[in-house]
Amino acid sequence: MDTQLAIQTDVSLKSLNTFGIESVAARFLEVRGVQDLEAVYRDPFLKELPRLVLGGGSNLLLVSSRYEGIVLKMVNKGMAVERDDGQSTYIRVCAGELWHDFVMWTLRNGYPGLENMSLIPGTVGAAPVQNIGAYGVELKDCFYSLRAFDFHSGQMVELDREDCAFSYRDSIFKHEMKDRLVIIDLTFVLPKAWTPNIGYGDVASVLRAEGISDPTPEDISRAIIAIRQRKLPDPNVQGNAGSFFQNPTVSAETLAQLRESHPNIPSYPQSDGRFRIAAGWLIDQCGWKGKQLGRAGVCATQALVLVNCGGAEGGEIATLAKAIQADVKAKFGIELNPEPSFI
Ligand SMILES: Cc1cc2nc3c(=O)[nH]c(=O)nc-3n(C[C@H](O)[C@H](O)[C@H](O)COP(=O)(O)OP(=O)(O)OC[C@H]3O[C@@H](n4cnc5c(N)ncnc54)[C@H](O)[C@@H]3O)c2cc1C
Repeated sequence: MDTQLAIQTDVSLKSLNTFGIESVAARFLEVRGVQDLEAVYRDPFLKELPRLVLGGGSNLLLVSSRYEGIVLKMVNKGMAVERDDGQSTYIRVCAGELWHDFVMWTLRNGYPGLENMSLIPGTVGAAPVQNIGAYGVELKDCFYSLRAFDFHSGQMVELDREDCAFSYRDSIFKHEMKDRLVIIDLTFVLPKAWTPNIGYGDVASVLRAEGISDPTPEDISRAIIAIRQRKLPDPNVQGNAGSFFQNPTVSAETLAQLRESHPNIPSYPQSDGRFRIAAGWLIDQCGWKGKQLGRAGVCATQALVLVNCGGAEGGEIATLAKAIQADVKAKFGIELNPEPSFI
């Protein structure tokens, strides 16, 4: 084993996942830069171990009480303007930075564009994995490229927006590049011409209530932070991973059929002619809001959020998720797909 690497053994992951679920990592390494990954790759024993790349642990469910592999916890830091072409600013940021800290840094330094994604938990490095999004903006809208370490070749690779195959809460990192690429840093492109995006959710009404008719990026960020703090349970108080299921997308024909028995079903038209359905509404209609199964529960104010009611094991959350999926399938014929990775 490479003695240069500060590998820890039997490390509790309880404080490193927002569900607050106990699971012990057989091996654990804080990754401060690509040289740490190269050293893991060079070590014939470590290279063959199962790998979990860990950011803030806010989009995963630890279903086993022990992880018999190596956890690579991304802690590399740094953000800086890379270049400016007159039209846009290109900013490079390391995977281990917290996403919200990065958004605040861009606003403080006069580079708007990310304000609608204020207060999303987790790290910058995980943001492309599910193409994070909120309040009408997705990561892909301001993404330029990323650099990642490839555990197949032992080399660094660079991927642009097209390579990443971003779509709703999805990317290549959930499919063919899963367990293969470790994202090291990202470059964002933020156009200098800024237009506010306040057409989603309660943002406009919160700004109106504050008497703001011509909002700055900071105003929008503040409004979104306030809405999120009001609507979503704080993982430090009640363990959760935000929305547990993706909002399903159905064809116009399927929606028309659903409307015959459920005329109030909320639906949102998509650019491809299909419709997105609010998963939280489906779960609520099945009577799950505020209910508990063992030590796992459904948030009383947001049916889309599953919570750790205290001391839950990952398996209990997974059992609750399965029961919800079965009920939604039976009542509406719709499959719900989880957002978090099951580890
Ligand atoms: C209260 C709450 C609210 C949330 N709101 C939103 C929201 O509005 N919009 C939204 O999109 N998401 C939301 N989420 C989900 C979550 O914040 C995001 O998915 C976030 O990007 C996860 O980051 P993380 O660092 O915690 O990732 P982790 O949970 O640590 O990892 C998630 C996945 O990414 C992989 N991964 C992590 N880092 C890397 C890397 N450097 N290279 C390769 N793979 C990596 C992991 O292996 C894992 O499969 C919310 C979560 C919570 C708890």
